[in-house]
Amino acid sequence: ATPTALMVGTARSAKMGVLIKNGEVLQEVSDLKTVVFDKTGTITVGKPQVTDIVGSEKQVLSVAASLEESSEHPLATAIIKEAEKKNIKPEKVQEFEAIEGKGVKANYHDQTAFVGSSRLLADVNISQEMNQQANRLQEEAKTVVYVGLNGEIIGLVAIQDVPKASSKEAISELKKRGLKTVMLTGDNEKVAQAIANEVGIDQVIAGVLPNEKAEHIQKLQQNGNKVAFVGDGINDAPALSTADVGIAMGSGTDIAIDSGGIVLVQNDLRGVVRALDISKKTFNRIK
Ligand code: ADP
Ligand code: MG
Repeated sequence: ATPTALMVGTARSAKMGVLIKNGEVLQEVSDLKTVVFDKTGTITVGKPQVTDIVGSEKQVLSVAASLEESSEHPLATAIIKEAEKKNIKPEKVQEFEAIEGKGVKANYHDQTAFVGSSRLLADVNISQEMNQQANRLQEEAKTVVYVGLNGEIIGLVAIQDVPKASSKEAISELKKRGLKTVMLTGDNEKVAQAIANEVGIDQVIAGVLPNEKAEHIQKLQQNGNKVAFVGDGINDAPALSTADVGIAMGSGTDIAIDSGGIVLVQNDLRGVVRALDISKKTFNRIK
């Protein structure tokens, strides 16, 4: 493409809130075969809300909120808000530790406590009743956070995040243009599949640890398949740089925005469709 055509293309997209960092990115977009999406904050609104609590509400929320005070994860924000609503004040904890893609750990009243996914369940006792409740909640597309204290699961917090209103249309438009759509998430398989079904995503890769996201992108790139990754989080940065086209949400963390070749200012996945259409126009014109 001529430099002028590229400039016209990138300027036109910028007007629509799709910032394309350079012309080379636009070329890559026109060759895309697969678009991979992060779930939380990308396909979904990213403002999860607590919907259910299993166990003693007061104790479960006190432990959970006290530990989550030091975390910036969207699930942590949901738990802290719920505790505030119920007038439960977070307490000081010792030896806080964030376990990437799994949860948080600390000492609460001198007892070891954790809040997070089922990956933290090794070495703790969970009742059959609690297990059944967890399954039921996941089937309702809710993310289950386990609350552990002193070697025992004392309760569950169910959290729900809904898809953005625009996600379904964006996915459908991409599929119409012959692209394959994939969800790549650290969340549980059941929850991921339920949300994928809602928006029409073709394939789900769930239970992925943050450091594994980039490897999954590489696998999808086999045989010269051009792949875009759309994400917003700190832990999405490696996948954004590995993909042929990294697309960051404008609402995302600075490191995600820096790693992306395209930024969607309006946090709306229809921006991916716009970038695609503009790249096709730009490159058809000069052929
Ligand atoms: P995603 O890929 O959907 O953005 P993450 O990789 O950030 O998800 O997290 C994966 C899973 O780890 C979450 O679904 C949750 O179960 C657990 N998790 C991570 N951080 C926390 C936290 N601060 N509190 C509770 N659970 C957490
Ligand atoms: Mg995310």
